[in-house]
Amino acid sequence: MTTLAVKRNEMAFCPGCSHGMVLERLSEAFDRMNLAPTDVCIVTDIGCVGISDRYLDCHTFHGLHGRSITYAEGIKRARPELTVVVLIGDGGCGIGTAHLVHAARRGIDINVIVFNNFNFGMTGGQHSSTTPVCAQTPTTPAGATDYPFDVCQTVGANGASYVGRFTAFDKDLPDRMEAALRAPGFSLLDTWELCVAYYAERNRLNRKTLTTLSDEMDLPLGELECRRRPQPPSLAVTATGNAVTKTAEPSIALSWAERTEFCVAGSAGQRILSAVGVIGRIAVAGGLYAAQSDDFPITVRRGHSVSNLILSRKAIVYTGVDRTDLLLVLTEDGVRRVKSWQALSTDTLVLAEASLNLPATGARIERIDRKTAEKLVGKTSAALALLSYAIVRGGWLDEDRFRTAAEFGVRGKYRDENLKAIDAGIGLARAGFELET
Ligand code: SF4
Ligand SMILES: [Mg+2]
Repeated sequence: MTTLAVKRNEMAFCPGCSHGMVLERLSEAFDRMNLAPTDVCIVTDIGCVGISDRYLDCHTFHGLHGRSITYAEGIKRARPELTVVVLIGDGGCGIGTAHLVHAARRGIDINVIVFNNFNFGMTGGQHSSTTPVCAQTPTTPAGATDYPFDVCQTVGANGASYVGRFTAFDKDLPDRMEAALRAPGFSLLDTWELCVAYYAERNRLNRKTLTTLSDEMDLPLGELECRRRPQPPSLAVTATGNAVTKTAEPSIALSWAERTEFCVAGSAGQRILSAVGVIGRIAVAGGLYAAQSDDFPITVRRGHSVSNLILSRKAIVYTGVDRTDLLLVLTEDGVRRVKSWQALSTDTLVLAEASLNLPATGARIERIDRKTAEKLVGKTSAALALLSYAIVRGGWLDEDRFRTAAEFGVRGKYRDENLKAIDAGIGLARAGFELET
C-alpha cells in the first residue's frame, strides 16, 4: 500500500502548515484505491511542497520550478500504467501556467494537486498569481492590486476532465482525490491551505475564513464544471501506439546474473556518455533492461563527465545507484567527482588509469593504461574500448557473446567506429596492459 512514510508531526513543514494534512488525505486516497507503491509516481515542484516526495513511499521525481507538469506528462507517456500525481504550489502554477493549460488541452491523464496557500511560502511569503486582491504580503505592503488567477476555470475551459476547489480541512477531500485520480484525462484539485508562517497571520486567514474568501473572490468551492471534450482520434491512436510497444524479440539473449551498476568517470570530450549509451543499447538488444544517468557541468565542454549504467534482466524500477559494481576512472576530474570512495565495498572493482592518485577505499583496484587504448582507437573512442575491456575483465560477458550482441546492438553513423572500439577493448582484456611498475 502507498502510505505516508512518516507521521505528520515528523514532517519538516511548520507546525500548523496544511501541507502535511493534504499529504495524509492523498495517502488515504491511494490506500482506498489499493495502489501499490510501484503503481504511483509523485512529481513535486519547487517550494515547501517540494519536500513532500520524501514522505511518500512510491516513485518520486523532483524538478524545476513550474515544470513539474512537463515531467509528469513525460512519465505518463513513457509509463501509461502509472498513476502520476503532481504536487505543486500556487507559485509553481504561476510560473508554469502554460504547462498547466497545454497539459489540460492535450488531455494527458495526470492528476495535479495545487497546494494553494496564496503566497510563496518557502521564500518569505511573497505574493503569487493566486494571492487575493487587497491581501497583505511582503511584496504587496499596501495590498495586492490584482485579482487572483482562477486555475480551475482555466484548465476546465481547456480540456480538463475533472476539476475541483476544496480546502485542506474538507472531510471529503480523500473522496475528491479519489474521484480525480479515477477520472480519465487531466484532473486538477485546487486545494486551499494555510501558510501559518506568512500568509495566514497577516491576512487573518483560518479554516473558517477560507470559505468566506471563496465568496469574496467569487471562486466557488466544490466540484466545478469542465468543458468536456471527446477524445480526439489522434489521441486514441497515440494511446495504442505508445502503450509500451513490444520490441522485436532480441536476436541474441544475453544471460545476466543480477542487477549490476557501472560508473564511468572522466572528463568532457572523452565521449563517456556516448560510450555508456552504446553499451546500454547492446544490452537492450540482448534482451536486458538498461538505465543510464549522467552527470556533467552545465558548461558541458569543460570539467567532469560521469555516467552511470544499470543493467538487469528484470525491469529496473529504481534507477538510483547505491552500490557500484564497477567504477572505471579515466582522469583527475573523474576522481574528484566520485564522492563515495570510502563507501565503496570490497566487491567493487575499480579500474583506474595508472597515473591517477586515488583516495582511500576498500574497493579492489586494478590499473589500466588509457594511453594504450587511445593509441589503438583514438582519444574519443578510448572510453568505449576501456568500458568494453572492463565488462570482459570483470566477467560480466564473455568475448563471443559480447561481440555477437554488439553486432546486433550497435547502430547509427558511428557503428564501425564503435565496433572497432569494442573489439579493441575485448582484445585488451585478453592481452592485458603493460604497465610500468
Ligand atoms: S513556510 Fe508556509 S508553506 Fe512553508 S512549511 Fe511553513 S507554513 Fe508551510
Ligand atoms: Mg504557496
